[in-house]
This record gives sequence, structure tokens and C-alpha cells, in this order.
Amino acid sequence: MVSIAVYVADDADYFRQVKAAFAERAPDIHVVDWAAALAAPGQVDYALVWMPPIGDLARLTALKAVFSLSAGVDHVVARDPGWPAHLPLIRMAGEETGRLMADYLLWACISTIRGARGWALQQNERVWKRTVVTRSAADCVVGIMGLGQLGRYAAGHLSRCGFAVQGWSRSPKVIEGVRTFDGAAGLAPFLAGTDILICLLPNTPQTRNIIDARVLRALRPGGAFINVGRGEHVVESDLLSALDDGVLSAAVLDVFQHEPLPLASPLWAHPSVIVTPHIASQASVYARVDYLIGCISSLQRGERPEQVYDISRGY
Ligand code: NDP
Repeated sequence: MVSIAVYVADDADYFRQVKAAFAERAPDIHVVDWAAALAAPGQVDYALVWMPPIGDLARLTALKAVFSLSAGVDHVVARDPGWPAHLPLIRMAGEETGRLMADYLLWACISTIRGARGWALQQNERVWKRTVVTRSAADCVVGIMGLGQLGRYAAGHLSRCGFAVQGWSRSPKVIEGVRTFDGAAGLAPFLAGTDILICLLPNTPQTRNIIDARVLRALRPGGAFINVGRGEHVVESDLLSALDDGVLSAAVLDVFQHEPLPLASPLWAHPSVIVTPHIASQASVYARVDYLIGCISSLQRGERPEQVYDISRGY
């Protein structure tokens, strides 16, 4: 029998949900909790993790692969220097993850255009003040940094909803209906044509602190910023200055350098910022388990699943 150990920081109940879903969908896969896995470390085939305790993965000596509960793998590779880098580290993927992210981004883009943060503040104070907004999706260019599995999906969704969409990635891309830019040389023209900037990059040494004053001030006047990548991408003091100086009209932030966002953070109460608690795209337990079952079947047949972390690229 194949076994998978589960560790999800801050959510002890997640193990029970994963176990129930596997029992229904693939009862031949045995799901074990983390303590049981560490007690019999030579008997666990796979691990599903979110922020595993540092050093634990290396102790599971029979592992064939590690699954990340998220599309990002920085919670393993950037935190645990002893993670078993010789094993495939597989990113979460699947249709539902893409759909949820695309919906979140559509909501966030419309919210920035319509000034939804201002409505919420007015509602808190029971203020009835009509501010007319005549700008629509058709007047806005959305620029997506990162055209991977999630960025491409979101680009198609936003484009079908009436936004002009352009994207920036490391290597050249051809995507129908999307103007694409790549590499260091492509960044300036990409930013110069963008009204709403979306960060959907992985967290790597090359992308850390990429969203700074220079980038934010290069957007079209009155630009907005949406971060669903990672908090490490943003120089927070530069973001706050750009908002306070009116360089940016709005920001929607789902990810932060420190999560939960510390109570003292000025972002919480900023009148131009919408904060969400890292929930842009959290696929259901069943969607994730179905994806894992597909990957485990491939691995058991000796095949390599698609979304394997590439150590040389860093994502
Ligand atoms: P992918 O690995 O599929 O795509 C990454 C994209 O970023 C690629 O287009 C890649 O370029 C581009 N990229 C990487 N490095 C650079 C660079 N140095 N310069 C320019 N472009 C670069 O990632 P996903 O789409 O699956 O996910 C992206 C990120 O979204 C995750 O790493 C995670 O941080 C975040 N995320 C957030 C969630 C949330 O709920 N907030 C949920 C899920 C993910 P190329 O195509 O040339 O390789």
C-alpha cells in the first residue's frame, strides 16, 4: 500500500479532511499524520506539506516525492536548507486553482477601478456619498507579472471580461489576445503601458523586492497594484510612499512578508488598501486530493508529473 504523510502548519484539522477525501477517492492510499510518519520514517512514500518543521522532511528516508500544498514552494526551499533536494518537489496545480485565482483577480481589478475600499469606509461611517466613476474595464490595461499556470489562466479570464491584458515573464510567450514582454529589457515598456499591475511571480532570489519605487512609479498615472505572488516581492515602504504620494490610486494585497499581517502594520487601516488573508486561490480539499491522486499514479508508473520544482530556475 502507498502512504502519504500530511503536515499543514496552523491547521491541525486539515489532516482529517485530507484523510477523509483520500478514503473516498482512493482508499488504497494510506494517509498518516506527521507524528506517525516520524515514528516510522522508513515507511512513508510521499509527503504533503505547508511550512513543514525544519529538518523533518530529511528524516523521512523512504520518500519518493514531496508535494507542496501551494503552487509556491518557497515555504520549503527558502526555509529548510536540509530539504531533500534530490526528490521531485511537486507544486499544487489544477483547474480549480486557476479558476479561483482568476476570479479573485477580476474582483480585485474591478474593486480598484470603482474605488471599493472607499465605499467600505463610507459604509462603516453610514455615509451616503455618490462618487461617479466613469472608467470601465475597457479603459484599463492590466499588466500581469508572471505568465505561468496561474498568470496565463488569469490573462485569458480578464481579457474575456473586457480588460486589455499584457504580461511579463522570464522567457518569451505567445498568448492569444495578450501582449507579451520578457526579460529585463521588456520590463520598462511593459510597465509604461500598465494601469493595474498584478504580481503573480514565484518567490526567488531574482524576484525578491522586485516591486519597488522604480517599478510603481513607472506605471501609467493613477495606477493600481495587486499582489497575489508573495509579500517578499514588495518593498513595503516604497508601496506606502507611492500610495501616500498619489502615485498609486489603490492596492489590493493578499500576501505579506509576515503572515498573519502584524496588528501594527499601517496597511490595515490605509484608506487606499484592501487586505485579504492569503486566500486568493485556495482550492478545495477534494480538488487538491484529486490532483495528488493523479500525480501519485504517474509517479508509481515511473512518470514525472508536470509541475515539478526546477532547482536551476528556482521555481
Ligand atoms: P509558475 O511557475 O507556473 O509561473 C511563474 C511565472 O513567473 C512564469 O511565467 C515565469 O516565467 C515567471 N518568472 C519567474 N521568474 C521570473 C523572473 N525573474 N522574471 C520574469 N518572470 C519570471 O507559477 P504559478 O503561476 O503556478 O504561481 C505563481 C506564484 O503565485 C506562486 O509561486 C505563488 O507564490 C503565488 N500563488 C499565490 C496564491 C495565493 O493564494 N495568493 C495561490 C497560488 C500561488 P517563464 O514563463 O519564462 O518561466
